[in-house]
Amino acid sequence: MIVCLGNTLLKEAMLNKDVQELLKVQKLDKEIVKLNGEIEKSQKKAEEKETKVKVQTNNVETLRKEIEELLEDKKFKDELLNESVENLKKLEEKTKSVTTEKQFSAINTEIEISKTNEDMLEEKLLSIIGSIEEKKKSVQEAEASLNSAQKEMDTLKQTTGGNINQIKKNINEIEKRKKILYKDIDVKIIKGYEELNRWTKGTSIVPVKQGACYGCFMKITPQTFTTVKETNEIVFCPNCGRILYYPENEEE
Ligand SMILES: [Zn+2]
Repeated sequence: MIVCLGNTLLKEAMLNKDVQELLKVQKLDKEIVKLNGEIEKSQKKAEEKETKVKVQTNNVETLRKEIEELLEDKKFKDELLNESVENLKKLEEKTKSVTTEKQFSAINTEIEISKTNEDMLEEKLLSIIGSIEEKKKSVQEAEASLNSAQKEMDTLKQTTGGNINQIKKNINEIEKRKKILYKDIDVKIIKGYEELNRWTKGTSIVPVKQGACYGCFMKITPQTFTTVKETNEIVFCPNCGRILYYPENEEE
C-alpha cells in the first residue's frame, strides 16, 4: 500500500478501479437521462397540442350537429306553417258558403285559432332562423380556430420529430462512448450497475457524505463507512443497494 505518498494518491488507490470507470459511465448515463427527459417533454407538448385540436374538432362537430337539428326543426315548422296557411285558405273559402250565423261563428273561431297558430309558428321560425345564423357564425369561428390549431400541431409535430431524431442520435453516440468504457470493466459489475441504473436513473454510484448514502440519505454503519473509506472493495448501500464511494472531499 502506498500510504506514504500523500492523501490524494492514497484515496485514488483506495477507489476501486471498476467504480472509477463506472463513475465515467455514470456521467454519460446522466446525460442520457437528461436527453430522454427532453424527448418526453417535447412529446408531452405535442400531445397537449393534439388534445387541444381534438377538443376543438369536437366543438365544431357539436355546432354542426346543432345547426342540423335546428334546420330539421325549421323544416318541420315550415311544413306546419304551410299546412296552416292552406287550412286558413280553405276556412276563408268556406265562409262564402255558410248560411247560418252559428256556422259562421264556428268557422270564425277556427279561423282565429288558425291565425294564432300561424303567428306562433312564425315567431318560432324567426327565433330558429336567428339561432341558425348565430350558430353558423360560431361554427365559422370554431373552424378557423381549429384550422390554425391544426397547422400549429402539424408544424410542432414536424419539429418535434426532427428534434427527437437528433436527440436519439446523440443518445446513440453516448451509448457508443459507454461501450468503450465498458471494455475495461468486469462484466458482472456492468450488469449490476445497469440493473441499478434502471431505477436510479444516473445515480447508481453515490458518495458517502456525513456518514450517509447520498442516494437514499440513510445513515450507514461505522463499519460500512470504514470499508468504503479504507478499502477498495465495492460496497453497496445496505438500504437502497447503490454503490458507495468515499469522495475526495467529503464536503463536495
Ligand atoms: Zn442508499
